[in-house]
Amino acid sequence: MTAQLIDGNALSKQLRTQVAARAQALKAKGVTPGLAVVLVGENPASQVYVRNKVKACEDAGLHSVLEKYDASMTEAELLARVEGLNNDPDIHGILVQLPLPEHIDAQKVIEAISPAKDVDGFHIASAGALMTGMPGFWPCTPYGCMKMLESIGYDLKGKHAVVIGRSNIVGKPMALMLLQKNATVTICHSATPDLKAMTLQADVIVAAVGKRNVLTADMVKPGAVVLDVGMNRNDEGKLCGDVDFDGVKEVASYITPVPGGVGPMTITMLLVNTLEAAESAAN
Ligand code: NAP
Repeated sequence: MTAQLIDGNALSKQLRTQVAARAQALKAKGVTPGLAVVLVGENPASQVYVRNKVKACEDAGLHSVLEKYDASMTEAELLARVEGLNNDPDIHGILVQLPLPEHIDAQKVIEAISPAKDVDGFHIASAGALMTGMPGFWPCTPYGCMKMLESIGYDLKGKHAVVIGRSNIVGKPMALMLLQKNATVTICHSATPDLKAMTLQADVIVAAVGKRNVLTADMVKPGAVVLDVGMNRNDEGKLCGDVDFDGVKEVASYITPVPGGVGPMTITMLLVNTLEAAESAAN
């Protein structure tokens, strides 16, 4: 069996077209959805991420502001800037790019963002809302994974989903979203003694570890759906995921590639969250 690809670029294009249309409708009412992206320091990967986010906003007709600050910015200065953005009526979403320089407490900064503008979904209020099934912003990467499952018409009810990884930004929210859709969910992590025994039971596997070949063909039940969140480099320096793609695609029914899978969906869901923040503010 050769798995069908879930194409994150194609799905993103479709969803971003819908975002652009809704943004246009909102503009007609005098509100342009606005995202502020705050970058502190010179981290090269972060520079690429923020550029991509700002460009995606522009392409979808959203207003975006990129604020770059020197790594010497103090925590108090950053908190004051976040407060300024909280009070700016033209800004509906605030994203502080992580990681922050070591002298700044990232959690404190995230908690300073108004939950109404927390389009990354990292605020503790957003996490609590997801946990309790209340309205709130969902973290973009797992939200993108849910959209990928939706795009293939996958009904999670009664299915067993195995999430590998338990970070606050991917693994844990992913598990809660799957649970909310009535899957039976297992969360695995570095202290899971027999990962293969877990993944072999799964109808859906989400790999969010950050290590190449964490999931190989012998660990996958025939017909399972495999979503690969990982972003790693192979020996040739090319981007690759956590999943041994060539092997697993022969066993799975659906699989996401890296690149061109979950990655573009993350930015797409950021646009969706920003648009929805603006729609809520307008209403
Ligand atoms: P993270 O905070 O480092 O978490 C990694 C998780 O993997 C941890 O829970 C860790 O367990 C677990 N783990 C490590 N080794 C393992 C093993 N051998 N078996 C099972 N679990 C293991 O990473 P993250 O922020 O969640 O990101 C995960 C990956 O996704 C990274 O490659 C990152 O670059 C990528 N990512 C991609 C996107 C995207 O847009 N595509 C977005 C975000 C992240 P412990 O908790 O026990 O340490």
